[in-house]
This record gives sequence, C-alpha cells and structure tokens, in this order.
Amino acid sequence: MSRVVYVNGQYLPYWQAQVHVEDRGFQFGDAVYEVIEVRGRQLVDATSHLNRLSRSLGELSMARPMSDRALLHVIGETVRHNLVRDGQVYLQVTRGAAPRDFFFPPAETIEPTLVVIARPISKTAQDAKAQQGLTVTTTPDIRWGRCDIKTVMLLPACLAKTAARKAGAREAWFVDPDGFITEGGSSNAWIIMQDNTLVTRHIDNKILAGITRATTQRAIEKLGLQLDERSFTRAEALAAKEAFATAASMQVMPITAIDGEKIGTGQPGVMTLQLRGVFYSAAEFTDI
Ligand code: PMP
Repeated sequence: MSRVVYVNGQYLPYWQAQVHVEDRGFQFGDAVYEVIEVRGRQLVDATSHLNRLSRSLGELSMARPMSDRALLHVIGETVRHNLVRDGQVYLQVTRGAAPRDFFFPPAETIEPTLVVIARPISKTAQDAKAQQGLTVTTTPDIRWGRCDIKTVMLLPACLAKTAARKAGAREAWFVDPDGFITEGGSSNAWIIMQDNTLVTRHIDNKILAGITRATTQRAIEKLGLQLDERSFTRAEALAAKEAFATAASMQVMPITAIDGEKIGTGQPGVMTLQLRGVFYSAAEFTDI
C-alpha cells in the first residue's frame, strides 16, 4: 500500500510531501496539532478534537486553515487514500512560512500550513498491550506554562519518554516542583485509590485537557464510580490500587508499575479494564 499525505491542498505520496524550510512550525515550533483515533472507519470524538484545535489556534492568534466541515472532508479523504480502518489521524496546523523573524507576521501576509497524516494501527496489538499494561517512570516537569495548548513543542516529552524507554518503561509521568504528578509525556495520568475513588489532576495551564480524559469521565459517570479531580502526589500514586493513562492513541491503558514499583498486584487493574471495556460507549463516532 502506498501512503498518501495531505499537505496544503494536495494529496501526495509520503516521501514527496513537504513543507517550506522557513515554515514557522519548523523554525519556532509555531504550530498546533491533534491526534484523532479512527475506529471502524469512523472518527472517535472528532467534534471535541476539532473544538480543542480551534481553541489552540485561538490562544496563539493563529488563523484557521479551513472550516471544520472542510477539515473533516480532508481527514476523510486521507483516511480513505490510506485504507485505514483502525488507526489514527495526525493533523498539524502551523502559522505558515515566512522569512525567519520572532514577531508573528501580519495575518494577511501568511497562509497557514495544514498537514494530515493517517496510519493504520492494529486493534488486536493495542488490546494485547492493554492486557499487559505499561510501566512508567517519573521525571521533573520542565515544560512551559501553557501545557493547555496542544503545540508541537514536544522536546521535554521526547526527553522524558526517551529516558523512560532507557529505564525499560513506556511512558513518563511529569512531576511538578511541589511533588504532584501533572500528566504523562503524551497522556493524562490517573490513579484509583484503595477506596475505589478515581483521581486525575484538575484541568489548568499545567496539563492538556485530554479528549480521552473527558470521555473517560463520562464512562466513569455511566458506571456510577467516584471521581476526584485534584492533584495527586507520586507517593499517592505508588500507594494506589490501580493506575492508568488515557490518550487518543491508547484509550484507557493500565499502568502496572511506577519507577519500578508495582502498582497493586502489578497486573492491569480490574476497574481500569472495566473502564477500557465501556470506553467506546461514552465516545462520539463520526462518519467520514
Ligand atoms: N497530555 C499530553 C501531554 C498529550 O500529549 C496527550 C496526547 N496528545 C494527552 C494528554 C492526551 O490527550 P488526548 O486524550 O486528547 O489524546
């Protein structure tokens, strides 16, 4: 199968898809993105992802490349070109290309860059991973003060996740200067206390308001479980009954150890797997 990428109005073979060398996404990380799950040729929670994209663009005074309707059309075409049934769509918007200068160029002088990539991911392989669970390491949160904006400035996450991998783990959890877990390198962080209360950090500028986090919240309500949205410490996480991560790339993913210490039995938690099982019943599906 030949891969096809959408870039600025064209569907191009993967290796020919390019952006300008003076694209501000390339030079300044002046760009935002979204990752949307594709399941059974439908998009999962597309409305929420596109709303968050609009918010990210707005926070950075960046122009929209096109309407949501047109974006959905481009996403659908890219998914079809790549024959993706289950997988994900990566969508990036940059401020556009301009001679390198820190100041934002006047909006009328620059066209945003839009890139859409779709790739298949085996559902079976993902479910197998969930049966195993993943392990995490903790690391100081060295990111900036606007983690609520989904920008491509992901170097701290790359450093943290690479260090995690070196330590034999799959994800890194960031810890703020007060000892509280903020979120994962590319996921939101959750624990389940011994009394079965779920805990995940409240939303503010220190974390991304995960779309999968919001859907998981709805699943929690459906199941009649207790949720406490508040900061939690590394020590609380180590003493938790269960832990998990949420992201569009993994839905609800059990965590079995933190910094080499087992969480609960060291196996994926019962409540976590139950939440994973009902996750899609709380999600929105959009035809493309
Ligand atoms: N936090 C961070 C830092 C992330 O990068 C991601 C995934 N992109 C998430 C949380 C989870 O967000 P979502 O559920 O919308 O994928």
